[in-house]
Amino acid sequence: MSACITVPQVTDSGAVRGMITALRSRYSFLNTLPVGRSAVGREIMGLVMGGGRERVLISGAFHGQEWLTALTALRLCEELCHGLATGEKLAEWDLSRAMAGRCVVMVPMVNPDGVDIAIHGSQSAGALAQSVQDMGGDEPGAWQANARGVDINHNFNAGWDLLQEMERKKGITGPGPRQWGGPAPGSESETRAMVNLCKKGRFRHVVALHSQGEEIYWEYGERTPDRSRLMAAVMASASGYGVARPEGLASHGGFKDWFIQEYGRPGFTIELGKGENPLPVEGFEEMYEKAREMLLLALMM
Ligand SMILES: [Zn+2]
Repeated sequence: MSACITVPQVTDSGAVRGMITALRSRYSFLNTLPVGRSAVGREIMGLVMGGGRERVLISGAFHGQEWLTALTALRLCEELCHGLATGEKLAEWDLSRAMAGRCVVMVPMVNPDGVDIAIHGSQSAGALAQSVQDMGGDEPGAWQANARGVDINHNFNAGWDLLQEMERKKGITGPGPRQWGGPAPGSESETRAMVNLCKKGRFRHVVALHSQGEEIYWEYGERTPDRSRLMAAVMASASGYGVARPEGLASHGGFKDWFIQEYGRPGFTIELGKGENPLPVEGFEEMYEKAREMLLLALMM
C-alpha cells in the first residue's frame, strides 16, 4: 500500500480537511458532500463512497474531546478506497462485491468547533472565543460541546422533556463544556445539519462513533426495530465490544435516539476504545485493529 494518509495524529478540523483533500487526490471516485456549517462557520464535511441505493451513514466527533473518532472514520474511508481501487481484500472482505448496490456516507467530524476548542482552547472559537473562555473552554480535557456550549448529542429531538428534567436534577441549567441540551431541540446548526442529511439520505441505518468504553448502544424506545439487537450482537462478536444500555443523561437527545424514533430504522452509538478522553494518539492503531471488522460490518450489514 502506498504511504498511509490517515496516520495517527492530533485530529483537529484542519487535519480532517487536509486528509480529505489528500484522499480525494489519490482516489478520484471519492466524492464530497457539503453537510452544513458549525456555529463558528467551519464546514461540516461529508464523504460519499459508492453510488448504490442502500445508503448507510457513519459519523464521528459529535463531542469535542472525541476527535480520535474522526481519524477512525477517515482511516476506514482510506481502507475502503484502497480496497476498491486495488481489489485487495480487507479483513477477508472483497470490497467491490460488498459495496455493490451500496453507498456509504461519512461525516467524520460533526462538531469541528468543539474539537478545535478541546485541542487548541477558546481562542479557536472566533467570535465566540470570549464566551467559550467564560464557560471554561480552556480547562484541559473538559470540552465536549459546540462553540455555543451546547452538547450536540443532547440536542436532538428525542425525549426532550425527560432530558430537561434530568438536566435540572443534575444542576445543568445553561451553556457549558458538556451535557447541556441547549435552548430547544435542534437549536444548533450542527444538529440541524445532521437532521437535514438524514432527511435527504434515506439511510437504512446510521452509526455514530463516540469514545470511550468499547460498547455498542442500539436501543431507543418502542420504534427500535427487532433487527437492531441482532446487528449489535454481530458487531459485538466481531470486536469483543459489549452490548450496552444507556443510563441517565445519555439516554435521550442523542443522534441515534432521534434517528430510531424518527424513522424506526436501526441507529447505533459505538463507544470506541478504552481509557480517558481524549484517547491518546499512541493507542490509535491498536484501537483501530480491534474495531475494523466491526466497523466494516456496521456499513455492510
Ligand atoms: Zn461522545
